[in-house]
Amino acid sequence: MQLISKEASRLSAIKIAEILPNGDIKILRHIYFKCTGCAQCCKDNYIPVTEEDLEILTSNGYEIDQILEDLSPVLIPKGDNQYFKAYLLRKKPFINECIFLDTDNACKVHSFKPMSCKIYPFAIKEEDNRVFITIHPSNVCKYIELDVKEEDSNTIEVVKEILFHIRQREDFKLKKLNKRVSTGD
Ligand code: SF4
Ligand code: SF4
Repeated sequence: MQLISKEASRLSAIKIAEILPNGDIKILRHIYFKCTGCAQCCKDNYIPVTEEDLEILTSNGYEIDQILEDLSPVLIPKGDNQYFKAYLLRKKPFINECIFLDTDNACKVHSFKPMSCKIYPFAIKEEDNRVFITIHPSNVCKYIELDVKEEDSNTIEVVKEILFHIRQREDFKLKKLNKRVSTGD
């Protein structure tokens, strides 16, 4: 198994918020972000696909060998010397962009795209049993304004949207687990 993004832990140190154990959001840096739809992140990144992402994509009709760049999993740092196992989404032949990127910069799988795409250009980092929202270590997106005035900031909205996607994914995992328990798989 390959270990990628050795630099990622260091670069992802730009924390913008902490999710407290009671679910409250503690803002650490005031940012402003609005996606312009430039799709640069769909071109300059290798997109990690978790097993849940893969399950969702294949349940929507895609074959594994159609969508994965490399069948061997890679390990991606998530903080505290912990890693998660991920596969990488395939790139178009001879073009450095995701296979799901359409000619008009739209995502062909928008409603069920991988989790890392849903929360990009941000990421989740666990450190010392604490959970942080950080700027994604790739630093591809040029549309995040860091340290804006509080009144110009939309950090809370950004973090709430990220939390919404995380909860949706947790619900999916829970339903999957319940199904396994009830069918004895
Ligand atoms: S997240 Fe950033 S890089 Fe990606 S499409 Fe939006 S503005 Fe562009
Ligand atoms: S799955 Fe969609 S959002 Fe994610 S990189 Fe590919 S085109 Fe972009």
